[in-house]
Amino acid sequence: MNCNIAVIKGDGIGPEVVTEAMKVLDAVGKKFGHTFNYEQLLMGGCSIDKYGDPLTDETVAIAKSKDAVLLGSIGGNTQTSPWYKLPPNKRPEAGLLKIRKELGLFANLRPAYLYPELKEACPLKESVAERGFDMMIMRELTGGLYFGERYTKEIDGVMTAVDTLTYNENEIRRIAVKGFDIAMKRRKKVTLVDKANVLDSSRLWRKVTEEVAKDYPEVEYETMLVDNAAMQLVKDPAQFDVMLTENMFGDILSDEASMITGSIGMLSSASLNETKFGLYEPSGGSAPDIAGQNIANPIATILSAAMMLRYTFDLDKEADAIENAVKKVLEEGYRTIDIAKPGEPQVKCDEMGTLISERI
Ligand code: NAD
Repeated sequence: MNCNIAVIKGDGIGPEVVTEAMKVLDAVGKKFGHTFNYEQLLMGGCSIDKYGDPLTDETVAIAKSKDAVLLGSIGGNTQTSPWYKLPPNKRPEAGLLKIRKELGLFANLRPAYLYPELKEACPLKESVAERGFDMMIMRELTGGLYFGERYTKEIDGVMTAVDTLTYNENEIRRIAVKGFDIAMKRRKKVTLVDKANVLDSSRLWRKVTEEVAKDYPEVEYETMLVDNAAMQLVKDPAQFDVMLTENMFGDILSDEASMITGSIGMLSSASLNETKFGLYEPSGGSAPDIAGQNIANPIATILSAAMMLRYTFDLDKEADAIENAVKKVLEEGYRTIDIAKPGEPQVKCDEMGTLISERI
């Protein structure tokens, strides 16, 4: 297969970790007979330095012409970097918001998987961590409370703030379909998380998702109230496969799910639109505190590349090969600085990339 990928290495540790993900993709290409064509683009601080703009329209147009975007991370030290003296719409993060909007990325996927070798980093009770977990939080990204009408004004002499939470059935259906499609590639279970005992919008989510569920008889479908879901995530995370939810609930629950895995350097993510197009990036930031030292953990970005193979290119076998290679290096005891226990030997960012490539 010929895969055309826009590569945005970005700022901070971005170039280091993305280079390793490309190394692993090339190893996959060699083994399975695929060609990965990369076009490198600028976004974030490096684009401000070159073009005076965190994301140019030309860059967006090139990204749109590809099958997928592989992104590192963008931004610098928010206290000291001159990028943060610029107006908000000219700062590095504005590039991120613009690309998500321009590419119509409405579905955000964040896997939370507990590697047995890293379970000591899991803050949950040993008896819970022992059972492990492997879930996908699927968050709606472009609607709901964060995008609704809002205002603050004095009403009858009292300052009053209003935020509105709106979803229409089309916005719900398109992400529900994605959620069930993804469950079909996993353990075939979808949990819709909502607040249907209170919110009208949640009741519409239930109605539409139930309709979609009928098209996927093989998938087990259940609903759960968000307050219960927050508790179940720490009590019994093993019960979840795909957790489907709206924007704000997903924002909170995906951070909770990340936290129980123990390390930011291991967390991949994907944002998808209605087609197979997706943007794949590690969940963490540009880590300016460790940038340029070749010590960042590239695994989150490498696993994001695996998600790209699975969800954009439908190359499940190849994605499995990457995920298994990551498991293997961990089993063999290789650790970067963020996942090493005190006194444990550490490998560098580029060594980790090579070790994983060699195990493809
Ligand atoms: P961060 O995620 O960059 O760093 C938090 C801590 O985690 C740091 O100690 C860092 O060293 C560590 N860390 C992160 N990724 C790591 C990795 N792969 N390996 C080892 N350690 C890792 O968060 P922050 O410090 O709050 O933000 C730094 C910059 O990143 C800011 O400019 C912020 O706006 C930006 N940011 C960008 C994105 C993105 O590009 N999507 C996301 C979050 C933050």
